[in-house]
Amino acid sequence: MRRVIETVIGYVSYYLGLTRFLLFITELVTGEKTLVAFVYHRVTDRSDGDVGYLRYDVGIDYRSFDVQVAAIKRHFRIVGLPEYIDCVSGSKQPDRRTALLTFDDADFEFIKYALPVLSEHHCKSVVFAPTDFISTAKRFWHLRVTNLTRSIDSDGWERLQSHASQFKGQIAQVIRQSSVSDEDRRAKTCRALARSLDQMEAEEVDSIVTELERIAAAKYMLGVSCMNWVQLAQIAQQGVSIESHTVTHRKLAWLDEQALRSELVESKRLLEQKLGNTVTAICYPAGSFNDTVVAAAPEAGYQAGFTTKPGLGSFALPGDERFRLRRVSMYGDSKYVADFHLAKMMLKRMLLGKSWS
Ligand SMILES: [Zn+2]
Repeated sequence: MRRVIETVIGYVSYYLGLTRFLLFITELVTGEKTLVAFVYHRVTDRSDGDVGYLRYDVGIDYRSFDVQVAAIKRHFRIVGLPEYIDCVSGSKQPDRRTALLTFDDADFEFIKYALPVLSEHHCKSVVFAPTDFISTAKRFWHLRVTNLTRSIDSDGWERLQSHASQFKGQIAQVIRQSSVSDEDRRAKTCRALARSLDQMEAEEVDSIVTELERIAAAKYMLGVSCMNWVQLAQIAQQGVSIESHTVTHRKLAWLDEQALRSELVESKRLLEQKLGNTVTAICYPAGSFNDTVVAAAPEAGYQAGFTTKPGLGSFALPGDERFRLRRVSMYGDSKYVADFHLAKMMLKRMLLGKSWS
C-alpha cells in the first residue's frame, strides 16, 4: 500500500515538477547547490529468484537501479570521487547540483549488474573494498546469516532449536522464538539474528555463525563474494574509484588505537600497491566511527571519510566534517518513486537541515 501511495505521489510530483521545484526553492533559500553522496550495497537480478538479497540485505534489482540512475541524472551532475572531495573540502565550489554514487563492500555483482548501467549512463562511481575479502573465499557474516536463514530446511531449523541452549542468551532466544516456515518468517528470523550478532565482537560473531552453519549443515549458496584483484583493476579502468573499506570490515569504533591504525593504513597501502592508484577515502564499516576514528583517518593519509549517517554534503565543510560525510540511500522501482524519494530528500533538507538522523 505504502508503495502505491509513494508511486502516486511520485507520479504527481514527477509531472508537476515537484522535485525540480523543491531543489530550486531549497537552493534559492540556502544559496547553495545541492551536494549529495548516494549509497548502494548490492545491485542484483530479482528474476534470478534472489529475492533474499532484496529482502534481507540492502539490495536493488538492476532494472530499478537503471531507473534510479536516470532519475538522479535528470537533476544532478554525477561526478567522480576527486571532484566530490574537492567540493566538500572547499577547493572547488559546485556550480551545479552534484551527486556521487558510492557502493559498499565490493560484491562481484557490481561488475555484472551495476557497472553496465553506470557505463550506459557514463557515470563515475566509488567502490569501497575491504582488503581481507579481496580474492579470498571470505564472506561477510551478515551474508552468511542471510544464506543460512534463506536455505535452511525445517529439519535443520529443528536441529538448531534443539541446540539453542549452547548459544548466548540473546541468540538462543532468537532461535527458540523464531521460525522459518514461510518467507516472511525467514526474513524476520534473519533480521533478528543479524540484530543480535551486530552487538557482538567480530571474533565472537564469526564463531557463532560458524557454529550455526555447522549445526544447520548450511552450505554457502548465495553466490555473492568480493571482487578479486583482477576485477578491481578492470573496473578501475572504467571510471570506478576503488577506495578503502578497511582490512577486516570490523567496527572501527570498537578497536584499540593500534588495530584502528592498522585497519586504516594497511588497507590503503595494499589497495595502492595492487592497483597503482592513490586511495583518498575511507568508508567506515557498519557506519561505526567516533572522534578517535575521525582523528586517525587524516593521519593515515585519507582526505575524506564516509559514514552511513543520512544527510547531504556541503561545500567547504568546516573542521573534520569531511571525515564524517553523510550519504543518502536511494530506492524505488519506477522513475516516479525515485523522483518521490528525491523530493522527500529535499523536503528533509528544508525542514531538518543538511543532516537528518
Ligand atoms: Zn560494508
